[in-house]
This record gives sequence, C-alpha cells and structure tokens, in this order.
Amino acid sequence: MSDRPWPTPQSAYVHVPFCRHRCGYCNFSVLTGRDQAYAESYLDALERELRRLGEPRELDTLFIGGGTPTHLSPAWIESLLQLVGRWLRLRPGGEFSVEANPSDIDAARLEVLAAAGVNRISLGVQSFRAEKLRVLERDHSPRIATAAIEAAAAAIGNVSIDLIFAAPGETVAEFAADLRTATSLPIDHLSTYGLTFEKGTAFWSRLLSGQLDRLEEDTELAMYRMAIDVARAAGFEHYEVSNFAKPGRRCRHNLAYWEGRGWYAFGPGAARFVGGRREVNHRSPTTYIRRLLAGEWAIAECDAIDRETWARERIAFGLRMIDGVDLERIAAETGVPVGEQFAKTIDRFCRDGFLTCEGNRLRLTDRGLVLSDAIVAEFL
Ligand code: SF4
Repeated sequence: MSDRPWPTPQSAYVHVPFCRHRCGYCNFSVLTGRDQAYAESYLDALERELRRLGEPRELDTLFIGGGTPTHLSPAWIESLLQLVGRWLRLRPGGEFSVEANPSDIDAARLEVLAAAGVNRISLGVQSFRAEKLRVLERDHSPRIATAAIEAAAAAIGNVSIDLIFAAPGETVAEFAADLRTATSLPIDHLSTYGLTFEKGTAFWSRLLSGQLDRLEEDTELAMYRMAIDVARAAGFEHYEVSNFAKPGRRCRHNLAYWEGRGWYAFGPGAARFVGGRREVNHRSPTTYIRRLLAGEWAIAECDAIDRETWARERIAFGLRMIDGVDLERIAAETGVPVGEQFAKTIDRFCRDGFLTCEGNRLRLTDRGLVLSDAIVAEFL
C-alpha cells in the first residue's frame, strides 16, 4: 500500500436547508416554513463551521446547494455569499454554482448572485408540464420555469436544469415533449433522473397505500434512452450516466466527486472527503445549528478510508462517467494495483458485454449503461 498523501480538496459544497415547502418525493435535509426562526442562526452556525478551517481555502469549484439557496431574501443571500466568500475563495477561472428554484428567480436575486461571482446556475425545473409539476408537488408553472431559464441565462449564463422522468402516470411521449422543450431553451447542461420513492417520504407512504404507482421498468428505460437520443441530437455530450452538457460545460464540481478528488462540505447533512476521512454532518438542520452554536462539532458519521476502499470508490463512481476510468492512473494515485486486483470482475463484465477495456481505460458499454447501478456496486 502507498504512503502517498491524500489529495488536497479543490472543491467545496455548502448545503442551505431552506425550502418553501417539502416536495412529496424529497428526502433531503430541509426546513420548511421556519425560515425566519432559523435563517440567522443557520448563518451563525455555518460561520462557526467554516471558521474551523483555520484559514481561507483557494478552490477550483464551489457549489451552493440545498434545499433552495435562493429561497430567502436577496439581502440574506448576499450575507450567505459574503460569508462563504470569506472562507472559500475561488481561483480565477473557477466554477461557482448555485442551485435555485424557478419560482425564486427574479432580478434582485440574480443581481446578488452575479455580483458575488456566481457563474453557473442549476435550476430545479423537473418538468415543463403543469400536470406533472402538480403531481411532483412543485410550486412553479411551466411559464415560470421557462422565464426563469431565460432570465438566468441572460444574467449568469451557463444554466443547468434538472428534469425528472417516470413521474406517476407519465408517458414516454410526454417526457419526450419535456426534453424537446428543455433543449429548445438556452441551457448548457441537463441532469435527468428517474423518480425514486425513498423511505420516509410522503411519496413512499402513498406508494405503499396504493395512491401512487411506479411506472413499469421498460417504460422508465425507454424514457432514459429517449433522453440520451434527444440530448445528443440537440448537441449535448452525454458525459455521465444522468448528465449531459454542451461542449465545455461539464459540471466541474461533480467531476471532482466522480473522480474521488476530495472536497470540503459544510451545512446540515453535508458529506466531505478530506485527508482520507469521510465525514457526514448531522442531517437535521436544527441539530446542526444547535450543536455548532453550543461549540460542538456537527459531525454525525466519520470513517477513515483506506487506500483500497478509495481505489474501489474511484472505479465505482468513475464508471458513471461515459469516458470511464483510467485504471493505471487510479493505481498510481492510490497505490492499489486495481487492474490485477479486480481482474476477475472486470473480465466477467467485459465478457458479458457490460464493460469494455481499451488499454487502461475501462468504461461502460451501451448495454452496461442501463445497469450501471448494479455494475458499479460490484466494485464497492
Ligand atoms: S425544492 Fe428540492 S430540496 Fe426543496 S423540498 Fe423540493 S425537492 Fe426537496
């Protein structure tokens, strides 16, 4: 095994746990309807957590997500961005992303974001169809979604949107219409995920009680294939299982996760990978705030990662990228001879047509793409 140093993170994530209401399928760390009670104490808690860095860090990517970072007032957003900017400083040419909901996009918020150097905005659009938005319990209309994309493109540029597919009752033709609308708008990046029913969400209970139905697996698969076809035809590169980008617009922040390069993370539920340790903050926003304001740590889980686990994760998460992974590079950086160590698993998947290996580069085939979750799990 190697005594090489762990990578110094060049990326940071900040979780902002406020939303107007909780969407039925959401299991993120979110507070709804209690903004005024917690907005200021969250900033105090975040400042205490950031201060533990000891000194400001210079970074290549910064991602403020949630929750809905843009839900609170423009003045509050400005305070948040100033606080973050004191500790997490972006190098020239860095990528600064903020997540937003279409209904929060207005001139005042866009001005605050642009002034703070935000140069990428990720909008939780999910659909352009009123009925699907209602089923998903989103609070925007198709018209608001379209207007938000246009306004964000004009003020910030580099707009990413999320689209959900396989919503209850949705047809392949309806999702195709969503994709066509998305790709006709000024977006640079598209993330699209099948709806999941997570334990503990309202949708999970409604699934169990028969009020909601999952779509058939074949229908969901047809929607996924449709997304690949429509996005590619519109000039997007399919660069990760669920992500598409115009040339030069891949999400550099997410690439740091998939390539296992280490990252800082702050806020409730945030997970970091620093110096060979993986730490996850307490998921409950109120517990996170209470602990930090009491002078304690907000960490709920902490694991020391050994080199072999890191190597396994680099293959597993790296395989989600369409370009795949460079086995030799992973071996050199982790000190684990992954080519030999996983030879049997790699050979089996290659024989079965799910993976392909050219030189040192291992990647999913088109057949492997639709079974990516099961394949990557074999490496973990
Ligand atoms: S807006 Fe996003 S983070 Fe907030 S409740 Fe809905 S899905 Fe969850």
